[in-house]
Amino acid sequence: MPDDWTRALAVVAHPDDLEYGTAAAIARWTGEGREISYLLATRGEAGIDILDPAEAAPLREREQRASAAVVGVTSVEFLGHRDGVIEYGTVLRRDIAAAIRRHRPELLITINHRDTWGGTYWNTPDHRAVGRAVLDAAADAGNRWIFPELTADGLAPWNGVRWVAVSGSSSPTHSVGVDDTHLEAAVRSLLEHRTYIEALTDQDPEEYCRDFVAQVTSSSGGRAAVSFELFTR
Ligand SMILES: [Zn+2]
Repeated sequence: MPDDWTRALAVVAHPDDLEYGTAAAIARWTGEGREISYLLATRGEAGIDILDPAEAAPLREREQRASAAVVGVTSVEFLGHRDGVIEYGTVLRRDIAAAIRRHRPELLITINHRDTWGGTYWNTPDHRAVGRAVLDAAADAGNRWIFPELTADGLAPWNGVRWVAVSGSSSPTHSVGVDDTHLEAAVRSLLEHRTYIEALTDQDPEEYCRDFVAQVTSSSGGRAAVSFELFTR
């Protein structure tokens, strides 16, 4: 992975999307003194079967903020799109482009935008919509004529995004090595989504988090790593 950058913006659909593995790389990067911000398209209100969305939204927002803090991220924003039915389109692209102009990152991070997770394991419409919009908004943010209303709002174009790193890709091109400290932070970060996880599985929450993080960061060489498909601009 390139390391000549200082600011990254991670943009995903739901609370917990970054915690299923990516957070180990984020822990490493913030530990190196890089500045990383999170932008969530939704508040994840449709994610817990036994909880009404009106109750789930503030709870999941709290859990996401706590989860980000564990890996050194204090800037966490929510766009408020409706969970489960995010629409790919100019509204979403503009919201993400505005955030890119505010944060001025060199690196964008998102999760798998493709139809499947590889093979026949179907991806969700929200992940597809947000991932594609992130790849598009990297260019939108730099063009003053695509969303001129953003410039009118005082957000100057930012054409400094050099890469979009997509985690969870079935065609990874790059990887970031992580050590035990980063892995432990990733487990703790995922564990902050406790209400969500307790509703999801009967397994002990900590054991569930350890198993998942170990599985997604295991590499054939034996050294733990987080892999990305890197799109260069
Ligand atoms: Zn998700």
